[in-house]
Amino acid sequence: MPELPEVETIRLGLTPVLRKQTITKVLVKRHDLRQPIPKDFARRLTGLTINRLSRRAKYLLMHFEGQNFCLLIHLGMSGRLLVFAKDMPIDKSPHDHWSFEFKSGTRLVYRDPRRFGLALLLEVKDINKHRLLSHLGVEPFDKAFNSDFLEKMFKGKKVSIKNAIIDQKIIVGVGNIYASEVLFRTKLSPFKPSGQVSKTELQSLVMSLQIVLQEAIAAGGSTLKDHRRPSGELGYFQFSFKVYDREGLICLVCKKKSIERVVQAGRSTFYCPHCQKLS
Ligand SMILES: [Zn+2]
Repeated sequence: MPELPEVETIRLGLTPVLRKQTITKVLVKRHDLRQPIPKDFARRLTGLTINRLSRRAKYLLMHFEGQNFCLLIHLGMSGRLLVFAKDMPIDKSPHDHWSFEFKSGTRLVYRDPRRFGLALLLEVKDINKHRLLSHLGVEPFDKAFNSDFLEKMFKGKKVSIKNAIIDQKIIVGVGNIYASEVLFRTKLSPFKPSGQVSKTELQSLVMSLQIVLQEAIAAGGSTLKDHRRPSGELGYFQFSFKVYDREGLICLVCKKKSIERVVQAGRSTFYCPHCQKLS
């Protein structure tokens, strides 16, 4: 499943390609994604010009010139947005569910084998009130995300810091994969109750979290360029993980202990018992 850095990478990659493109044709092959594609999808979008792409958590929002509504896209488990330049043949797939054809000849195809994705039309002013988005916490690059905020949110909480930072009602976009990396860099034990993490540790946590996500986005950006040239596909990328998926391998920092894996709230956490002591 794409996490925030992947979605941000896709947004950054698609923006220059899709900006100012006018939709001349909308094709919907299947309406039955996780939620049905609206019946008036093609009618409302045909003729519109894309203004910009924004992101909220793992949702992409496509905005149009002179319109009060936007297209909300979620890639689900396996969704891809593929761009085909004018002369590029489309390698058609039975999993292509909707597509746009632009005045320029460029085409945008939504491909999703597992159909957990979403494509909905929403009024811009109602976005944050929509039931899919209303419960979402702060964005990790927002000014409101700082150690004061975390101190307030975690106060008196017994839930482990690992489970607290992946709680989307507190912060959006820190998925299970990046949570292990962030805690490793902060030298915080994943088991520490969130209410006991000191202010200094919270400051360091905020910084590590932003750095890890930035690095992941930067890594995605370079892979994205390589991927788009041959296939037109906006791909995901390899981030160089220090603890994630390294169970049993020697810690790259202390070189004293092996990385261990534990299951917290049903999901794997990777950590170094030497670098991340519970104290
Ligand atoms: Zn270590």
